[in-house]
Amino acid sequence: MIVPPGSVIGIVGGGQLGRMLSMAAARLGYRGHILDPHEHPPAADVAAFATRADFGDAAAIEAFGRVVDVATYEFENLPVGPLERLGDKLRPGTKSLAIAQDRAREKSFIEQCGGRVAPWREVSSLDDVRRAVEELGVPVVLKTRRYGYDGKGQAWIRSAGDAESAWAAIAEEPAVAEAGVDFQAEFSVILARWADGPHAFWDSPENEHREGILRRSTVPCSERIAPQVAEAREAALRIAEALGHVGVLTVEFFAGESGPVINEIAPRVHNSGHWTIEGAVTSQFEQHIRAICGLPPGSTALTVTSATMDNLIGEDVNDWPQLVAEEGARLHLYGKHEARPGRKMGHVTRVSRRA
Ligand code: ADP
Ligand code: MG
Repeated sequence: MIVPPGSVIGIVGGGQLGRMLSMAAARLGYRGHILDPHEHPPAADVAAFATRADFGDAAAIEAFGRVVDVATYEFENLPVGPLERLGDKLRPGTKSLAIAQDRAREKSFIEQCGGRVAPWREVSSLDDVRRAVEELGVPVVLKTRRYGYDGKGQAWIRSAGDAESAWAAIAEEPAVAEAGVDFQAEFSVILARWADGPHAFWDSPENEHREGILRRSTVPCSERIAPQVAEAREAALRIAEALGHVGVLTVEFFAGESGPVINEIAPRVHNSGHWTIEGAVTSQFEQHIRAICGLPPGSTALTVTSATMDNLIGEDVNDWPQLVAEEGARLHLYGKHEARPGRKMGHVTRVSRRA
């Protein structure tokens, strides 16, 4: 089914990803409609329509479904049930969401698809945590099954004596205990998939995190990663196909000593793909719109020799006067009013071209 330009694209979630999706949609002549519970979500500034409603409000989501031509979501901490009301209009579907939002289901699913993950255990009591530490050895990281992002909902166990405080630190929520991976570098595979099968990959960025938050993505990736990209792409595509995923899918990897290890999947455009706006013929945002609307794939070729994307986190955003004055720096601000610590306020991309 083709959803032609002029149609309304519903976006559940009004953060910066929804904002950049809505801008890409507008360039192709679509109108965005944002559904979000907040008063001034960043995406609503750049969309034709906005509905303020809780993500769990099934009646509101059903009404939203009647006024949009196709719908998508821009983050994964959403109740799945109400979104079922969107039926076939929702792309990707709820399977991608249900699996990606629960770390235990996610890891089992990846393993079923033949992907490698760090050794892990499901834990729901302090005894489980202690047993997991005995079996996996230290270090181990506890991650809540649900609602984690930007390193939230995680606690490290570096010696057996940390088990109790780590379990308390994640508020005794159902979790996974995961062996620490001694990685050389991190990277992601970002792909888009169409309902009738075609897919496209971008170059894989090398990702640097600090305190669990992405700080920088760079393409091309270094030689620590490059030899692992082909295998990582195969694993990512098997996951996308098993999900019946439509749209952009991101798979985060550790480049391990003996090959790529999957960290997690995001059923959506991703922070590590923001460089595609300046660095690729078709950005991840435009490609997601193309895929969910049934338009043909755009080229994912690089238009630059290299690109570096730096996040502006919290007070970093106060550097905007220098950044906006810097020749060649492409500044993106998300229109968030308050620069709370750890909050993603914007990003800046710098590219280089062959002389
Ligand atoms: P989030 O959903 O918050 O992005 P991740 O599971 O991706 O959570 O963890 C955030 C970051 O923490 C990772 O990108 C990585 O740098 C570090 N990390 C997470 N799990 C592990 C692990 N098992 N071993 C080593 N580092 C890890
Ligand atoms: Mg992550």
